[in-house]
Amino acid sequence: MSTATLDTPIPAHPCAALPAADAASGDGLAAVRSAIAAHLVPKVVDVDLKAEYPEGFLRALGQAGGFRGAVEPAYGGNGLGMKHVVQVMEEVARECLSSAFLVWCQTACARYIQLSGNDWLKKQFLPSIAAGELLAGTGLSNTVKSCDTIEDYRLSARRVEGGYVINGVLPWVSNLGPSHVFTTGCPVVGEDGKLVFVLVDCAQAGFKLVDCAHFVGLDGTRTLACHFKESFVPDSMVLAHPSESEAYVKRIKPAMIHAQMGMGLGLIDACCKLMHQSNRTLAHVNQYLDDQVETIEAALAGARAAVYEIADELSEGAGSERTLDILKLRLAGGELSLRAANAAMLHQGAKGYLVRNPAQRRLREAYFIAIVTPATKHLRREIARIEGGHACSGM
Ligand SMILES: Cc1cc2nc3c(=O)[nH]c(=O)nc-3n(C[C@H](O)[C@H](O)[C@H](O)COP(=O)(O)OP(=O)(O)OC[C@H]3O[C@@H](n4cnc5c(N)ncnc54)[C@H](O)[C@@H]3O)c2cc1C
Repeated sequence: MSTATLDTPIPAHPCAALPAADAASGDGLAAVRSAIAAHLVPKVVDVDLKAEYPEGFLRALGQAGGFRGAVEPAYGGNGLGMKHVVQVMEEVARECLSSAFLVWCQTACARYIQLSGNDWLKKQFLPSIAAGELLAGTGLSNTVKSCDTIEDYRLSARRVEGGYVINGVLPWVSNLGPSHVFTTGCPVVGEDGKLVFVLVDCAQAGFKLVDCAHFVGLDGTRTLACHFKESFVPDSMVLAHPSESEAYVKRIKPAMIHAQMGMGLGLIDACCKLMHQSNRTLAHVNQYLDDQVETIEAALAGARAAVYEIADELSEGAGSERTLDILKLRLAGGELSLRAANAAMLHQGAKGYLVRNPAQRRLREAYFIAIVTPATKHLRREIARIEGGHACSGM
């Protein structure tokens, strides 16, 4: 895979849409960094240990322009595209993976709306999602895994006058609440396996959120079960009808997977800092560990360059021709996250085993990168299938 330098120029963008500090710094990240320092850093341990949902931080990040890369300027975006989305996630993941995953949820949902053909939805929802006024999730893990024949669909839709009626349960969808929205997709009865993609309003009739799962990490992400019972979704909330869904999936899938790399880049960087910190006093003994910080940092630099390069390509077009590269990079990102977190833990030693020490948190967080859809096993299966001559799945 080719690599780009880290200082690849960012394409021209409307600086007027950025906060003043960002227009000056040019990378669109100065205000983001301020929001992280003021609203996230003091909360990281509570998010991790008390499962506190970092809503205040998400709102502040929205005000700082942190979600605007996923949206076109006409709907409140900043024109900086996927690289900005990845870089914001990376900045956030340096401090807290739960919050970085919530950034992924918010920006992935925005992008699914942006790439739909539904102009009413774009006008109605994108400006408030881009600003962080409306918080949004995405329940597409089951859709992706079912399309890849790993599990059965948990939702089904039937066409009715003016919309679709949906039934079923999605067990785990994050960044949700009674006033939130999220995207999902499921097969439509009588449509030969073709899918409908919709935006769901969590307050709508026939829909309920159920808090039933608690996790060893990422528990502050408001990950809830979504119960649909004869839930009517009007045509106005449809992102893609069955006749449009194949093309729609090709538009959304590459970047959906690729953007998750922002989580890995930030987490790995944070693990390197923990190793450096420990080496200040314990380098004489840390040198006997398998993974040294220089090795991880070199791998991180290569991964970051490749991620930014593909992110810029994705901003220009759909990128489905880069699917195999994206899957391999995403797999490597999960593996390197685990390696880096393991190395950070071993460098920190018993100190890293303390409840409030970030080393053990990073280890739990790294496992999330490796298990969230597409998980390590899923990625390896898809890579093997594509290299074995199978076409990429529809989703
Ligand atoms: C913290 C967290 C946040 C998540 N957020 C989202 C999100 O925002 N959107 C989204 O679409 N998905 C989300 N997921 C789901 C995630 O992406 C995976 O689909 C899920 O972890 C299952 O993947 P798997 O590889 O373990 O599945 P497999 O190993 O293939 O297991 C098959 C299926 O069995 C079911 N299953 C197994 N054990 C349990 C259990 N104890 N309770 C309920 N079901 C079970 C699951 O549906 C699973 O998909 C989240 C998961 C976690 C842990």
